[in-house]
Amino acid sequence: MRGQIARLKARQVDRHKDWVEKTSTALARRYDLIRVEALPIGTMTRSACCTVEEPGRKVRQKAGLNRSILAHGWGLLVVRLEQKVPGRVERINPAWTSQTCNTCNICGIRDGEVRENQAVFRCRACGQQANADVNAARNIALGHQ
Ligand SMILES: [Zn+2]
Repeated sequence: MRGQIARLKARQVDRHKDWVEKTSTALARRYDLIRVEALPIGTMTRSACCTVEEPGRKVRQKAGLNRSILAHGWGLLVVRLEQKVPGRVERINPAWTSQTCNTCNICGIRDGEVRENQAVFRCRACGQQANADVNAARNIALGHQ
């Protein structure tokens, strides 16, 4: 049983590394400048992230398994990107990316109540409605913080 679990985990790690390698290579080939969401300090602590030499060490100390996998995978992806295309990766502080309207951000409108719920973003200034993650991702792509 123990052996089975260990093998399963090893396979998951392999798949995970494979995903990081393929994704970072694809992004590096396709884009001149890659802007990524800089995760809050709390999720990027050393325990959850992240050296290429020792991926996954101490990850289990994090509270939620899914969350730590996500945080670890993301951190590792960013690290590999920065190694593959140094100087072409920008980390964007996500503090306002969920509250800022992607359409009328030109006016600098930041409305704390624009998220109707977790999934929907609706701007009270210009009426734009979008998937909340898409709106935030567009802001990150534009380098807005
Ligand atoms: Zn707007």
